[in-house]
Amino acid sequence: MTEPAPGPGPRPGSPARFEVLVPPPGGEGTRARLGRLELPHGVVETPQFMPVGTNATVKALDPADLEEAGASIILANTYHLYLRPGHQRIARLGGLHRFMAWDHPILTDSGGFQVVSLGDLRKIDDDGVTFQSHLDGSYHRFTPEHSIAVQEALGADIAVAFDQPVPPASTSRAEVARATERTHRWAERSLAAHSRPDQALFGIIQGGLDPQLRGESTAFMTSLPFEGICIGGLAGDETAEQRAAALDVAVGLLEKDRRPRYLMGLGSPADLLEAVNLGVDMFDSVLPARVARNGQLWVPGGKINIRNAQFQDDARPVQEGCRCILCRRFSRAYLAHLFRAEELLAYRLATCHNMVFTLDFMAEIRSALRSGTFDARLPQLRAYAQLSRPGASAVQSE
Ligand SMILES: [Zn+2]
Repeated sequence: MTEPAPGPGPRPGSPARFEVLVPPPGGEGTRARLGRLELPHGVVETPQFMPVGTNATVKALDPADLEEAGASIILANTYHLYLRPGHQRIARLGGLHRFMAWDHPILTDSGGFQVVSLGDLRKIDDDGVTFQSHLDGSYHRFTPEHSIAVQEALGADIAVAFDQPVPPASTSRAEVARATERTHRWAERSLAAHSRPDQALFGIIQGGLDPQLRGESTAFMTSLPFEGICIGGLAGDETAEQRAAALDVAVGLLEKDRRPRYLMGLGSPADLLEAVNLGVDMFDSVLPARVARNGQLWVPGGKINIRNAQFQDDARPVQEGCRCILCRRFSRAYLAHLFRAEELLAYRLATCHNMVFTLDFMAEIRSALRSGTFDARLPQLRAYAQLSRPGASAVQSE
């Protein structure tokens, strides 16, 4: 009996080592899997959520807050750091890890999503994107080579190939095809430009919602020696069903691939769970932090809008038994007061809670995968993650 030929994988000597610890059971059931990604600054257990530190900070939190929340890897934005304070300045100051005092893994995105989202402020051609800064209107140009140079200067554990994402549901097939083809050329150029040996490079699948384009893009990206495979162009304007169909195509073709799969931009616990079930390992989103700063706290089976009047006299913690600093020490009434008084502590406490909720939920998923009970526990996990039950929008936890 011969071993099956290994599937495609990363280049030899890669600074990222990924191991699937518990593979999916096979057959028609879940594609969820437990994994371990070893990077220069530490180990990332998967499935995993990456908090987003746009400007080299997860808004309102410091590195100790992130460590306490259980974050093992964070994402920083290449576009924002290139414009301010500048990648060369960060390199001169010892690189991004030292600059932001985060000694654990970091992933930088390619800037592609930000620059192509600038609307009238950008112009795309086959060589790259010319855009105007959202800060001061100055003109800049990103090419695959420049995106890689900026990311090498920042020095994250993982860099990402430059791509052209498009809103999946509202873009014509011809336009998706053109952006996908361009993304493929840019992936090859990103690989050729990348030289930093202590930094992994992930490639991005595009292809929108069209099964043929999504399949072709998956096949193309997996043929290249990236260290990980990003699934891009989703978490946009598509429905959950459309996203699931596109994921089914991509992950179906990645079955024998030995690299981590990262779905870019997905953040609600319910969405994370469904994508894990479809075989995704890594996620990032600003969502838990953004809604927290608006006063939305995630709790099992629902959400709380702390600005609602009823919480001003509520002496209970936001979530009974939650290990975060907010729930350990303070009441709903106190947080409601902080938000009304626009006290800065409100944003930190609320963000800590949503981050702990999200990261603990991922830990719960991993624990179910480890013990082989994920399929059996799926209904319970779905009920826990359900943040938008019809008729239960404003409350309730218990
Ligand atoms: Zn809490």
